[in-house]
Amino acid sequence: MIRDREHECMGRGELAQLQGERLAQQVQKVHERVPFYRNLLQESGIDPDKIKGLADLPSLPFTKKTNLRDEYPFGLFAAPLKEVVRIHASSGTTGKPTTVGYTQNDIDMWAEVMARSLAGVGTTDDDIVQVAYGYGLFTGGLGAHYGAERLGASVIPISGSNTQRQLMLFEDFGTTVMCCTPSFMLYLWDVAQQLDLDVKKLPLRVGVFGAEPWSEAMRRDIEAKWDIKACDIYGLSEIIGPGVSCECVEAQSGLHINDDHFLPEIINPDTAEQLPEGEMGELVITTLTKEALPLIRYRTGDITRLTTDRCACGRTNSRMARVSGRSDDMLIIRGVNVFPSQVESVLLMSPHVEPHYKLIVDRKGAMDNLEVQVEISQDLYKEVSDAILSLDDVTTFTEHETLVRLCSQIQKNVKDIIGINVRVGFKEPGSIERSEGKAQRVVDLRQQ
Ligand SMILES: [Zn+2]
Repeated sequence: MIRDREHECMGRGELAQLQGERLAQQVQKVHERVPFYRNLLQESGIDPDKIKGLADLPSLPFTKKTNLRDEYPFGLFAAPLKEVVRIHASSGTTGKPTTVGYTQNDIDMWAEVMARSLAGVGTTDDDIVQVAYGYGLFTGGLGAHYGAERLGASVIPISGSNTQRQLMLFEDFGTTVMCCTPSFMLYLWDVAQQLDLDVKKLPLRVGVFGAEPWSEAMRRDIEAKWDIKACDIYGLSEIIGPGVSCECVEAQSGLHINDDHFLPEIINPDTAEQLPEGEMGELVITTLTKEALPLIRYRTGDITRLTTDRCACGRTNSRMARVSGRSDDMLIIRGVNVFPSQVESVLLMSPHVEPHYKLIVDRKGAMDNLEVQVEISQDLYKEVSDAILSLDDVTTFTEHETLVRLCSQIQKNVKDIIGINVRVGFKEPGSIERSEGKAQRVVDLRQQ
């Protein structure tokens, strides 16, 4: 369902006009109110009065994550704290977090873009929405919460973890829409099997999954296991939180960007040059209406591509392909760029493995090695476990014909599709650590 036909189905020319006007206003505003931007624009030789429309975008300087860290906690705010009604922060891997602020208008806009996203997957005021993203400084929980409430749905603010209770509420409350990470949804399925819960009998209809990159193959796996539609949602706290973009349930073909608020472009991550529509590169977003924390050309680090073709659902806004990885998650193995989600797609082509895997990278001499550890299915495990001592024991494993064949099939698929040779390590079902939040899939021993 289309919530805001005026903005989601606007003609591209009219939209460009609106985006251009809003861009000019945002540049004026950050120049007036944020010393960091005043200096940055001056250093880049930009006269804010000369920024008139979209054609001027490539001349503007970028904002990076490090700029937010350097201005910690409130240095980039364009509104006084008196007008800031909410503060979130994203955890940094080292040191201080990144702080983001919202005025009341920002909170309203956020609820609205989240409501558009949830409406796009078919949510209405008849739905029961279980929000299993974390509540707290992380934007996931409250973002989904406000959007679902704005639609008039019944919201269950359960937050993350609480695995058994999540399943109990599916049954007792009759949850119809689930919001969580895709890896958590897979974990819930494992636990449901242990509890003998027939998940296909649940009223659950659709899942809104995000906060980590996942593959098309994992979507098919989740949809088959739960008998639901699985849609991809995208956002980042620096820009607003979840609701920057979301797939529509009709087409599931790219995530509709709310581009009347968030102006997207794709750049070459190495040269920072703007790339033409359709090319793969790093997503850069300029906020067009934010009050507390407006950002100009923010480098998200996420790798995707854009299209402005009209979607089968009727929306005309830009769509981004599902994020294939973050530029800083990208592994370079013997000169080849590899994203964990690519490996995931290849693994899930085989019927005998489960979507639980880890990638171990190490270096022997000058040679990078990638080992793919993946769980085999319960059925295959039953078949092989009598014949072999342990999956970790290479001598017995290589004596088992089915495993040897599966191993060479996976190696061939990875070689054909990604272009590298990998080792494959099989693991027993349930032995790879499950995540109740964002999955950690890569262990890079080269950095230690
Ligand atoms: Zn669509």
